[in-house]
Amino acid sequence: MDYSRSVHFFQEAQKFIPGGVNSPVRAFKSVGTDPLFIKNASGPRIYDVDGNEFIDYVGSWGPMILGHCHPKVISAVKSAVDNGCSFGAPTELEITLAEMVIKAVPSIEMVRMVSSGTEATMSAIRLARGFTGRDKILKFSGCYHGHSDSLLVKAGSGAATFGVPDSPGVPQDFAKLTLTATYNDLESVQTLVAENKNEVSCIIVEPIAGNMGTVPPKDGFLEGLRKLCAEEGIVLIFDEVMSGFRVAYGGAQELYGVTPDMTTLGKIIGGGLPVGAFGGKKEIMSLLSPSGGVYQAGTLSGNPLAMTAGIETLKLLQSEGFYQNLEEKSAYVASGIAQAAKDAGFPIYSTRVGSMFCAFFSKEPVYDWTSAAACDTKAFAKYFRLMLDAGIYLAPSQFETAFVSIAHSTDDLDKTIAAAAKAFKSL
Ligand SMILES: *Cc1c(COP(=O)(O)O)cnc(C)c1O
Repeated sequence: MDYSRSVHFFQEAQKFIPGGVNSPVRAFKSVGTDPLFIKNASGPRIYDVDGNEFIDYVGSWGPMILGHCHPKVISAVKSAVDNGCSFGAPTELEITLAEMVIKAVPSIEMVRMVSSGTEATMSAIRLARGFTGRDKILKFSGCYHGHSDSLLVKAGSGAATFGVPDSPGVPQDFAKLTLTATYNDLESVQTLVAENKNEVSCIIVEPIAGNMGTVPPKDGFLEGLRKLCAEEGIVLIFDEVMSGFRVAYGGAQELYGVTPDMTTLGKIIGGGLPVGAFGGKKEIMSLLSPSGGVYQAGTLSGNPLAMTAGIETLKLLQSEGFYQNLEEKSAYVASGIAQAAKDAGFPIYSTRVGSMFCAFFSKEPVYDWTSAAACDTKAFAKYFRLMLDAGIYLAPSQFETAFVSIAHSTDDLDKTIAAAAKAFKSL
């Protein structure tokens, strides 16, 4: 394939934008190549500036569950634009989307809209701290909750008690308040909570970890967190920015039947426009300004274009058999890829929950960050480039989730499996 225009644009972009991209994962650094510049997208396909066509499994990193440019979403947004792009004042659209979210996710009694997943999680932990009067938070190694200071922390080697910042610029004093436990390991959580008795405000977790590849929760893990939080007066936050409306209309909490105190959302509820949301028990949410004292605000929060895209998207997700259909497509492609790897004598560890899946380049099971990090990332990088050249657009990292949309046809999925079979044979 000819990528010359993308190569040219990337050189230009690097002059004006740090690293040439507005979000680091877009740079394709971990797979040893340069990013494609995208011109447009439609259904399951995206097209780059050189005119190459790809079957897309990134879906803008999760939002595009309907595929790109669903005609109903596009036409609703187009007519919303005619009414004005932003007012900084309440609109009826915000009530509509809030009600839809509350109906979909029963643990959410009240909800506030923001403009990104990062803002949602950042605000949720502030509220949990305000509600409990405690400063510490607990997260899991390998779980990503956006890039706010308190959450940009994973396990420090050895001393598990105090977090170590993942990035320069995150003060050590902030990181100290973030405890890091091991995903799928309840004991690691119990130990930290016991060592920090009455100091932990919240446990924030991706109920299906989707930012270290796709790592499902083990039986009893989420239930154990629920029980521990109830006993210790800790606010349990499910970060469903990725899994919300993705694995079921009511998210992972519907799928597993475990009820958090608070939930963060993003990605799909914006239908491709910038939206995040956080919600939960009335008792907690009513502490938010202006009904309570915990401050949180946003010039573009509840933006009418974004609300419109969200409302139209959620309406379409309610159509009969939507999630069953998506489940079948996803099972087909994920198992097809795993089988292709096996046939080529290149075993992978395949994981999937609904339309989230991952091919881990590992012979061993992956259930936490350490087992994910043991994958053969060099082989993955080669696989990624082979797939790209075959017209399959995957996320440019071993530690990302692949997303199937309702727009992917059986033919698209067969092409993907055939490309994977060829790629595994040449690894
Ligand atoms: C994407 C993501 C975020 C961050 O959302 P942004 O909109 O990128 O700020 C937070 N949590 C999870 C689980 C995510 O997948």
